[in-house]
Amino acid sequence: MAGRSLNGGDAAIAPPNHPHAVRVVDIVEAPDVAVAVIGAGVAGLLCARTLADRGVHVTVFEKSRGVGGRCATRRVDAWAFDHGAQYFTVRDQRLAPFIESWRQQGLIALWQGALAVREAGQWQPAKSGVHRWVAVPGMSALGGHLAADLPVHRNTMVERIERAGHRWRLMGCVGDDLGSFDVVLTCVPSPQALPLLAPVAPALAQVVATAQMHPTWATMLVLAERPPVAWDGAFLNDDATLSWISRNASKPGRGPGETWVPHATREWTIRHLEDSADSVSDAMMTAYHAATGSTSVPVHAVSHRWRYAQPDPVVAAPALYDAELGLGAAGDWCGGARVEGALLSGIALAERVLTRATLASA
Ligand SMILES: Cc1cc2nc3c(=O)[nH]c(=O)nc-3n(C[C@H](O)[C@H](O)[C@H](O)COP(=O)(O)OP(=O)(O)OC[C@H]3O[C@@H](n4cnc5c(N)ncnc54)[C@H](O)[C@@H]3O)c2cc1C
Repeated sequence: MAGRSLNGGDAAIAPPNHPHAVRVVDIVEAPDVAVAVIGAGVAGLLCARTLADRGVHVTVFEKSRGVGGRCATRRVDAWAFDHGAQYFTVRDQRLAPFIESWRQQGLIALWQGALAVREAGQWQPAKSGVHRWVAVPGMSALGGHLAADLPVHRNTMVERIERAGHRWRLMGCVGDDLGSFDVVLTCVPSPQALPLLAPVAPALAQVVATAQMHPTWATMLVLAERPPVAWDGAFLNDDATLSWISRNASKPGRGPGETWVPHATREWTIRHLEDSADSVSDAMMTAYHAATGSTSVPVHAVSHRWRYAQPDPVVAAPALYDAELGLGAAGDWCGGARVEGALLSGIALAERVLTRATLASA
């Protein structure tokens, strides 16, 4: 029985020369194929959702307690921070039905804060006319929505993929057997997909290895009062420490408190990757004071290291799938970085599996 679609219907087909072009197939009912999706970020969840909506038996494994991956919200006391993805933009028309459906349900809203860019010491308004979407009340709500009524095993890290006859067995980190599946799809950052795929699919792993991912330190701040700036978000293109500052509190539906999130530049993060979170918070606070003119001591300052934050370069394919092996991979490091790229990659991988499943059952 095909599952209920939560996502505003099927993705419209892309132009054939589009980097995200996928074969959209007309599948009436999916065959009896058991699929495991490793990783409950938005790529894995939309992949799983697309498969489940077509009647495929999908099980998702997620190492963390929460779902959504880097579309994350950290809650501390009454405060909540988007410390990963800040907002997302959508240019690909195939995602338009999702956006409209999510908007109507109140799951996402436009962030209409004033954005500025600092370049060589000069401030100017950021590009206007861009629709910047945020999930409400926090970015993690997107993952929560996509995961609704999917079987997701949380706090379950997949350590190994092993052959089990014609199927694949997933092994957990204390050697526990997580079950066997016809198809296994890794929807995790490329450096985390590599150790899973390399022993069982070396050719696939070789392609995965061409994508690289870079870290970002993010700091979650609460201030007693609003700093003397007119903007709610700023791209700092000339700063040695910070690349971005957002007034988290200016996004729709956020809770109480003057919450802010600065992100460090890639270069600064790499230089300070193994520093303690406390010393990073101190340095980030100094840079934040310099950029905003604020002198107030934060009520709260905690830093989070995203070891695999941003892909660059990405693999030039929307998803990877070896139909003979029944192994595949997706994520923002496939086809296009950022939330939009991850969503498209998840759909593309599901379509690859469905295409194959249809052929097999014909
Ligand atoms: C600091 C920061 C700022 C960003 N800003 C923006 C922005 O403003 N706009 C934008 O569009 N994008 C932004 N991004 C990028 C965006 O968050 C990502 O492109 C997108 O969320 C990636 O989704 P994903 O599903 O591919 O991967 P992920 O979100 O990384 O999901 C992968 C999941 O797999 C899980 N996992 C990993 N290994 C295993 C395992 N072995 N077993 C089980 N589970 C596993 C992880 O816990 C995770 O939940 C930002 C990212 C960061 C970190």
